[in-house]
Amino acid sequence: MGLMDGKIALIFGLANKNSIAWGITKRLHDEGATIALSYAGEVLEKRVFPLAQEIGCDFVEQCDVTNDEQLDAVFAKVAERYGRIDTLVHCVAFANREDLGGRFVNISRDGFKLALDISAYSLIAMAKRAEPLMTDGGSITSLTYYASEKVMPKYHVMAIAKSALETITKYLANDLGPKGIRVNAISAGPIKTLAAAGVPGFRLMLKYSEKSSPLRKLVSQEDVGNAALFLASDMGASITGEIMHIDAGYNILGMTLTEEDMAQLD
Ligand code: NAD
Repeated sequence: MGLMDGKIALIFGLANKNSIAWGITKRLHDEGATIALSYAGEVLEKRVFPLAQEIGCDFVEQCDVTNDEQLDAVFAKVAERYGRIDTLVHCVAFANREDLGGRFVNISRDGFKLALDISAYSLIAMAKRAEPLMTDGGSITSLTYYASEKVMPKYHVMAIAKSALETITKYLANDLGPKGIRVNAISAGPIKTLAAAGVPGFRLMLKYSEKSSPLRKLVSQEDVGNAALFLASDMGASITGEIMHIDAGYNILGMTLTEEDMAQLD
């Protein structure tokens, strides 16, 4: 028996096999969930369809989350096909390259609006459409990053988007809680993905996370998948509004030092 037997999971943000969405999809599927997938843009089609096939998923819908009609269409198709949703997973983020890197003060108004719309507002837009389909309660999980809490180099507009996403998580948790709908976010350590490649200095983030996190390791898509499974399943039944760090403990540090740095302290 699987932890997600009989559950319907709608997952946004699958781009390729390195996507965090894929790590989550696989774990939910392994535990018995029926998976519905949404992706953005035709260029990703050739990567997303074979992955869907791998898990026997034939619900694969394209959707730009800035487009209300496209969002309506995906949720209408889920309603028609399955009649409900038990788990919604939001793995969507985007910012223009020029608004990551450079100087923080140079973030443009348009770039700000775009990043916040795609990466944060979309969670509200999805939750609003999922609510009527979560007739028996449900869970909504999104992905955030520690740059929302502490300044990380060059993360700039995406740090603001992640702060907004985390606050939205808490307000949605309060709004939807009386209906038995739980809303949480996973704050994942850095993982090599398509989106991560757009962050200047991402390799350094990987290096420092691995060398200075208490567990001295990076986290994987599977680690995040396990946490998402926990939150989506009945194991997480009393958890809502939570920002759960899956980062090998990096967030507890007040100062990050490598082993070499530390050797010099003695
Ligand atoms: P990814 O590139 O695999 O996924 C990002 C997804 O966002 C892609 O599928 C892309 O198509 C989608 N997207 C972008 N614009 C969209 C739009 N307008 N409409 C619909 N979808 C759109 O990268 P990932 O790292 O797996 O990212 C998933 C989530 O995890 C993001 O929210 C990201 O910020 C977050 N996250 C990533 C890391 C990391 O180090 N990789 C760490 C913490 C949090």
